Amino acid sequence: EKKALAVYRSIVPKRADGTVIEVAANIGSLEEIDAARAAGAMGVGLFRSELLFMLQTGLPSEEMQYQTYVTLARAFAPHPVIVRTLDVGGDKPLAGIQFPEEANPFLGWRGIRMCLDRPDIFKPQLRALLRAAVGGNIEVMLPMVSDLGEVRRTRALIEDCAAELTAEGVPFERFAVGVMIETPAAVMIARELAKEVSFFSIGTNDLTQYIMAADRLNSSVAGLNDVTNIAVMNAIEMTARAGVEAGIMVGMCGEAAGRVDLIPRFIAMGLTELSMSPASIPRAKKCIVDLTTAT
Ligand code: PEP
Ligand code: MG
Repeated sequence: EKKALAVYRSIVPKRADGTVIEVAANIGSLEEIDAARAAGAMGVGLFRSELLFMLQTGLPSEEMQYQTYVTLARAFAPHPVIVRTLDVGGDKPLAGIQFPEEANPFLGWRGIRMCLDRPDIFKPQLRALLRAAVGGNIEVMLPMVSDLGEVRRTRALIEDCAAELTAEGVPFERFAVGVMIETPAAVMIARELAKEVSFFSIGTNDLTQYIMAADRLNSSVAGLNDVTNIAVMNAIEMTARAGVEAGIMVGMCGEAAGRVDLIPRFIAMGLTELSMSPASIPRAKKCIVDLTTAT
């Protein structure tokens, strides 16, 4: 089966109407580039940048981040590399950042919330991304968004960084900004969000736990933590409709994106990008190709 799947490495899967479906990789380090390319990844749909921050004691410098993003962009050119800004907090502590004790870390100071409170951490990352976007196909997405203000404040911070770089004479380019849809609030404001961002990427891992109010780490409620629950599927469909109506790309980067039993439904909803662990890519491509040839 593995051999038969190898032919999909260079295949560009398309929907019945000819629209390309981007099958991209979720990765967290440069060590995973080779495996992703070998699997036939059409770019990176989720670069978990927090691993850069977890690998060492202290925070990574702007320069170290810049080199990492440039390497990524070069490795997957001309495909896009979507870098998710730092997504830590609560249950994922980090050397170099003082986190408060929280009764409910999953509802707490994490993702974009923490970054907006700590421009000393967020700005070096945004500056590194602006610099790497020169000649590199870099896109940026924000985790845990639950309010339009978070997007607007991030854009203002990006403009601050751009002004700084201009004053310093450092070359940069603006990148497309998208949001992860992984909170119920983001689903409820998807139409408003779609007017202000370039793409959605549905994070089904967190979206499922928040829609179902079932901790993704608590085995006692594992039965509820099911992406196929109609409540979650309805949320995905609402998000897709809002994105498609606004004319922006809607993708998915949660684990569900690689499930061949669900991919046909996601394609039917209008998703045009699926990002997954590299090992799932060949089977996902085959699934999409089979869909098209069967109709
Ligand atoms: C998600 O929540 O679906 C996701 C892709 O992000 P993470 O699993 O890193 O929280
Ligand atoms: Mg998440």
